[in-house]
Amino acid sequence: MTEAVSFRGVSRHFGHIRAVDSVDLDIRDGEFFAMLGPSGSGKTTCLRLIAGFEQPTSGKISIYGEEAAGVPPYRRNVNTVFQSYALFPHMNVRDNVAFGLRVKGISKSDRHAEAEKALALVELGGFGDRRAGELSGGQRQRVALARALVNKPRVLLLDEPLGALDLKLREQMQEELRRLQQALGLTFVFVTHDQEEALSMADRVAVFAEGRIQQVGTAEEIYRRPASRFVADFVGSSNVVPADFVGAGPGNRWASLRPEDIRIAPDGRNATVISRAFHGRVIKLGLQLGSQSITALMPATEALPQPGETIRIAWDADRVHVMGSEA
Ligand code: ATP
Repeated sequence: MTEAVSFRGVSRHFGHIRAVDSVDLDIRDGEFFAMLGPSGSGKTTCLRLIAGFEQPTSGKISIYGEEAAGVPPYRRNVNTVFQSYALFPHMNVRDNVAFGLRVKGISKSDRHAEAEKALALVELGGFGDRRAGELSGGQRQRVALARALVNKPRVLLLDEPLGALDLKLREQMQEELRRLQQALGLTFVFVTHDQEEALSMADRVAVFAEGRIQQVGTAEEIYRRPASRFVADFVGSSNVVPADFVGAGPGNRWASLRPEDIRIAPDGRNATVISRAFHGRVIKLGLQLGSQSITALMPATEALPQPGETIRIAWDADRVHVMGSEA
């Protein structure tokens, strides 16, 4: 099957900055794909390369099997939703959505009909006459989405589209984006630096650092079997300790152990409680286990140990993941 987007050895350098550095990537047709990584790791540049706003310094990009080099943005089967939304505030919602169709030379009545359909998809039917500048943040976000969908792209690129929304609205839009993506069967490529958002929404996640992809996999693969120390640290909180320390082989390797996989066990190892924080349903304990400082998350139903106390802890051996490299 043809991949929606393929990168082969793609780099984009700006002077001495390697924004994207020898990236190989396959995004499947119809998948919700997240690009996750810290600020400056090259996610947005990857998106701009797919959109055609940037050209690779070297390497090859194809979109549905067609080589992208030389194909201008408006001829690519992709559309972008930016975090800033980039709406025209003085124009009404319908004209904002229909704007791209006007450039394509489609008649006014057809433009309006298409715009209304796209607005209905994002649940803004009846908002066509409102001025974009008068809408709330969440409504603007939907208009930006409708404006991208009206072009019927096969790939929708979303650059931190929920970044400007407050938490509650953000969670609501996460669900809605997922629903839309499934209903329309489109390929979504979603950039975020929020690991929870990436893990909960995407079919697969690519973790970026310094212009390179560290790991690609399902949320569970990335979380349970991080490929490197960086991924273990960045995706969820993790205790990264020498493998031999947790009974998982030679000490020149690193192992990750998730805080929620540590439990109190009468026959376990002695650990001293350094700190304790109450988080509602869970408590977070800072522990000194031999030479290592580790973090544990436990249900708040456990008896709450005090800092200075010694407790006994254990974990299942299959929850310890030894990482492939020493990195
Ligand atoms: P953020 O989450 O902050 O948006 P990002 O992971 O999307 O970060 P990019 O925006 O892709 O990262 O930037 C990657 C690197 O390339 C950064 O060091 C950035 O400063 C640099 N960069 C991006 N665009 C340009 C440009 N037009 N000129 C020079 N440097 C650039």
